[in-house]
Order: sequence, then C-alpha cells, then structure tokens
Amino acid sequence: MAHIGWIGLGNMGHPMTKNLIAAGHTVTGYDVVEAAITAAAEDGVTPAASIAEAVAGADVVFTMLPKGEHARTVYLDADGVFDSAETSTLLVDSSTIDFDSARTLHAAARERGFRFIDGPVSGGIGGAQAGTLTFMLGGADDAIADAKPIIETMAGNIFHAGGEAAGQAAKIANNMQLAISLQGVVEGAVLAQKFGLDPKVFFDIASVSSGDSWPLRNWYPVPGVVENSPAEREFAAGFSTMLMHKDLGLALAGAESQGVDLPAASLVHEKLQQLIDDGWGDFDTSILIRNIDEETPG
Ligand code: NAD
Repeated sequence: MAHIGWIGLGNMGHPMTKNLIAAGHTVTGYDVVEAAITAAAEDGVTPAASIAEAVAGADVVFTMLPKGEHARTVYLDADGVFDSAETSTLLVDSSTIDFDSARTLHAAARERGFRFIDGPVSGGIGGAQAGTLTFMLGGADDAIADAKPIIETMAGNIFHAGGEAAGQAAKIANNMQLAISLQGVVEGAVLAQKFGLDPKVFFDIASVSSGDSWPLRNWYPVPGVVENSPAEREFAAGFSTMLMHKDLGLALAGAESQGVDLPAASLVHEKLQQLIDDGWGDFDTSILIRNIDEETPG
C-alpha cells in the first residue's frame, strides 16, 4: 500500500481521497481552506498544515486544484511541491488546467528530476464518490505504469493519452465538443417544441437518429423526457454553467496558443457568460436553453 500526499480537498479531492483510504492507502492532505482539511480528516485523511507536511515521505502526490494559476502556485512557489518533495515522489496533477500551464509544470518537473503526470478526470462529483472517474493521463510510460495501480482505486477508465500535457489536451477537446453538442441539443429542443412536436416524441426519434448525442441522451433540457436529467430537478447542477465556462475558456486559450480559430466554441462561451451574468452560474450547464427560451426553468 502506498503513502499518498494530497493537495486540494474540495468537491472532487475529498471523495477521491476517501476511495484511496478505503483501498488501504494512507493519505496526508492539505488545503488552504481549514474546513476542507477538517472534513477530509473526518474521513480518514491525516491533516497537514502545509504543502511540505503533506508531501513529506509520500510515494505519490496528487493535486486537485481549481485552475492553472493554483497548480502553478502549488508546484512552483517557494515551499511548494517541487521545493518540498523528494525527487523519488511521483507527481500527478488531476486538476483541469490550461495546456500551457501543464506544459510548464512538466518542463519544471523534468528540470528538477521529478516524474510528473497531467491526469485530469471526467465523471463529476458522482464519479469521484463512486470511484468511477475517467482519468486521461499525459506523461512518460514508466510514470504512468507506476501511477496506474493507485489511480485504479478512483477510476472506472484510465487512458494514457500521450506525452506531456496530452491528458489536458484530451479533456479540453472533449469538453469543448460536449459544450458545442449541448448548444445543438438546446436549439433542437426549442425548435422541435416551436414546431409543435411533443418533446418526448422528438427525443425518441432523435436519440436513434443522426441527431443523437451524449448531451441529448443525458441532459435533454426539457422536463419529463430523460429520467434524472438536470431539467427534472429545475437545473440543479450536475455540471455547473461556471465549470463548463471555465473548460471552454481553456479550449479558447489553447486555440489561441496553437493558432486555430474555434468559432462555435467562442459562441457557446459567450452564451455561458451571458447565463453567469444573469445569475445562473451555479445551475446545470443544460440551462443553456434559457438563452433561447426564457420560460425555462419556469
Ligand atoms: P473545488 O473548488 O471544490 O476544490 C479545489 C480545492 O483546492 C479547494 O478546496 C481549494 O481551497 C483548494 N485550493 C485552492 N488553492 C489552493 C492552494 N494554493 N493550496 C491548497 N489548496 C488549494 O473544485 P473541484 O470541484 O474539486 O474541482 C477540482 C478540479 O477538478 C478543477 O480543476 C475542476 O475543473 C476539475 N473537475 C471538476 C469536476 C466537478 O464536477 N466538480 C469534474 C471534473 C473535473
């Protein structure tokens, strides 16, 4: 069994540590928010008062932080992970961060003699609790091979996406496709209804026709159509508008640094911003329908 250092005990980090502990690993955890450490300690995490304390003697360190700026701070600052950990410690950043920050962290790790993996996840808080997250890993073969047995206790699927920052690349491109598909679904749902179609009849047709998609089958934005969809619970998140906006921002930042134009992603990013400005940021992202049909959520 491994000794694990964990930094970032929020909505995702806390339940992920629970699964590691249930599998018999020991976890020492740190967060800037005291209450997050206390909550995780109640589920078996050994509390740490600093990054240095969390990483001391760890076989593997995981970070689960909001954004690239937080990950850069935690790894690169004086008293951060690179200054505090032994170079024998394997480092895994599971935060969803921008491609360029992930490459910066890989380069800094390499210079300092660390093995580093970018390993963002998909599956949300439910997947973190159930231990069924999809991990998308970027890094060297030997590092991934060593991390896999530990990651398995938190995962349903593990993919080695490629070399440095490939995990972030996969996550960012996937979520961008999801956001654009969802915009298609909300527009289709509204148009079908304006044509006078029964939403369930349209759903039954589209879900076995060429308009089928993951957001159609899981997030159909009209109540009474898909069981357990966000529309069934007045658009309580789920996957929040704020998080989708963040992930699309990562796609647009990546597109800029790679010199590519993403017009549909830009449009959906604007639509999500509009919802956030109108106070819907914490609601499920399928509330995108509200931009077209103001009656929703009613
Ligand atoms: P969260 O805000 O709940 O948790 C992040 C934690 O990091 C917080 O407790 C915060 O206090 C802590 N933190 C911030 N700066 C820190 C620092 N300098 N040192 C130590 N701790 C610090 O966010 P979350 O929902 O757990 O998401 C974490 C990451 O996972 C994000 O990148 C998010 O995009 C990604 N993600 C989230 C979901 C989801 O459904 N919530 C799904 C997939 C991926």
